[in-house]
Amino acid sequence: MTFRALLVEKSAEGAISQSIQELDDSRLPDGDVTVRVDYSTLNYKDGLCLTGQGGLVRTYPHVPGIDFSGTVESSADSRYKPGDRVVLTGWRVGEAWWGGYATRARVKAEWLVPLPDAMTARQAMAVGTAGLTAMLAVIALEKAGLTPDKGEVLVTGAAGGVGSVAVAILARLGYRVAAVTGRPETADYLRSLGASDIIPRADIADPSPKPLESERWAGAVDSVGGEMLGRVLKQMKYDGAVASIGLAASAAVPSFTVIPFLLRGVSLLGIDSVMRPYSERVAAWNRITTDLPLGMLEAMVTEHGLSELPELGRAILAGQVKGRVVIDPS
Ligand code: NDP
Repeated sequence: MTFRALLVEKSAEGAISQSIQELDDSRLPDGDVTVRVDYSTLNYKDGLCLTGQGGLVRTYPHVPGIDFSGTVESSADSRYKPGDRVVLTGWRVGEAWWGGYATRARVKAEWLVPLPDAMTARQAMAVGTAGLTAMLAVIALEKAGLTPDKGEVLVTGAAGGVGSVAVAILARLGYRVAAVTGRPETADYLRSLGASDIIPRADIADPSPKPLESERWAGAVDSVGGEMLGRVLKQMKYDGAVASIGLAASAAVPSFTVIPFLLRGVSLLGIDSVMRPYSERVAAWNRITTDLPLGMLEAMVTEHGLSELPELGRAILAGQVKGRVVIDPS
């Protein structure tokens, strides 16, 4: 048997190339569950793996794709049987293990999650790691005490994958959502997802010399990092919480001081989606089926094939992808 995959190769000179190839099943890794991949998706990390950046991929040739949804073809693990619908995110699949940019994948059973009945394989990839992480951020903010009556919630990088899903979930839960974007042309899109206010990136991206600014946000979901995270911390209301997801601008926060923690009781919550325990993944996927309007999800999605991935990988690293990308590998 063979399968179709987007293979990333590295030449002796270090040049990265991508090509679609028909590969023998014997080349699949040594997992215990073989899955027919129905859909995959595109996340920021996929951009890094597709273009050989960030040191995430150590062994070539490599099949990227950090997420996939599909149907079990065979399983050596009693938890899964042929025909089961599954979803996979994280565990360094697509980085250290061949991933979802293929018609077939083989992984460890403990990495899989049963696809919720209320969700199609395509919807699961419209959510993907980006959407799951947005849900984990909202759950973390709730655990920190955030409720809609506390005030407005800020979402940075709002027109991107994590940001779009975060806006939609928060709005659905009854929060007033302010969306920060560097792309003014996405304002109507963000309003359609439920954003009440659109904040131009420039308003909140420049460093401020003050240790604290006027209190504005009860909560925040940040996928940008850098100076923007520094500014957001200074603008949090008393007892507010910021969920830190990403580093689309930078990993460093030059204007960081502990003053918002000490004088306003602000919390900074770290969000990791890659190593989350099984029970938390199942809970988060189930909450997505109720808290993310799946009809609204469709408004975020564009669908592409394997051949378009090299270009899409460059685009997401440049912050040019709007919403979520679904990949049909067939
Ligand atoms: P996207 O590219 O889809 O979204 C990122 C958004 O950030 C862009 O759309 C843009 O939004 C904004 N942005 C990009 N560059 C800059 C910049 N220089 N300054 C300010 N804003 C910028 O990526 P994802 O949503 O998939 O991922 C976002 C981040 O979250 C990444 O860093 C990713 O690695 C991280 N991540 C972390 C996870 C975890 O487990 N912790 C899981 C998933 C993602 P706009 O145009 O609206 O301004």
